[in-house]
Amino acid sequence: MSELWHIGVDLGASTFKCGLISPEWRIVARNEAPTRALEGPAQAAERVAQSVRALQAQLPAGATLAALGICSPGPIEHNTGVIVDPPNLTGWRNVPFAQMVREHLGIPVSLEHDAKAAALGEYHFGAGRGAKSMALIIVGTGIGAAFIVDGKLHRGEQDAAGEVGHFTVDMDGPICTCGSNGCVESYAGGPAIMNAYMYATRKKVESAEEIVRAAQNGDEIAQRVLQRAGRALGVCIATVAMTMDISTFVLFGSVIRAGDLLLEPARATVPKYSHKSISSRVRVMAGELGNDAGILGAAWGARSADG
Ligand SMILES: [Zn+2]
Repeated sequence: MSELWHIGVDLGASTFKCGLISPEWRIVARNEAPTRALEGPAQAAERVAQSVRALQAQLPAGATLAALGICSPGPIEHNTGVIVDPPNLTGWRNVPFAQMVREHLGIPVSLEHDAKAAALGEYHFGAGRGAKSMALIIVGTGIGAAFIVDGKLHRGEQDAAGEVGHFTVDMDGPICTCGSNGCVESYAGGPAIMNAYMYATRKKVESAEEIVRAAQNGDEIAQRVLQRAGRALGVCIATVAMTMDISTFVLFGSVIRAGDLLLEPARATVPKYSHKSISSRVRVMAGELGNDAGILGAAWGARSADG
């Protein structure tokens, strides 16, 4: 087992990123290419296969490629390798993507949800190293989580566990994109942060990252908006910690570039909404691996039958 090589692919809406992974679980070569989702899944599968072959050509003599792991935006079906109907991959419905890529390459291919793959990556190789259990919370346009309990992904009955972005933190809060009220996402999701800032300043901004930069440069309104977002995340973390008895929380995604501007209010909020016996053990950290988390985690999932 230890001599086997793997390839991981992080399939995103605009690009896919591939990494060749040594038996020591290091990414030793990479490439990336545009997904061109609108051209359809068959063409994308072919381009993924081409990129994988280019990495395969860099294997040392005599080395064996054991498996390929792909992660993609959800919803997906892990067991069948089907991409169901992700909002970010327009026109893709019930696509047997793992099988399509396997037909090109003739090696085992597995498919994992991108948040779950990132969680596996951070758990085994990043910020969650050494933890027994871990929750990874992705904070970007949307907010979602993946839970690893005693080393294994917790998938739920329909592979749908982790919708923490739609926990209600205020029953009378703003209406969320999901139709509910006062969801975590309606405070801490990228669009919510932008809206709150634009409402307060009457200035137009193009991305949540712009507000992060403004906050880092001392803009007090931007700092307040991020603080409120951080508090919502703190309530979310407290709730997960109380429900699951998990103490390691890794935060991930574009909004987390705010760093301590967001993490500090989150950490300060956790004890207010959870028992001391729980909150005293909670650690809230930023992810360490960036894009590599998905690549490594997808490959790790391909390697382990029970991942
Ligand atoms: Zn919601």
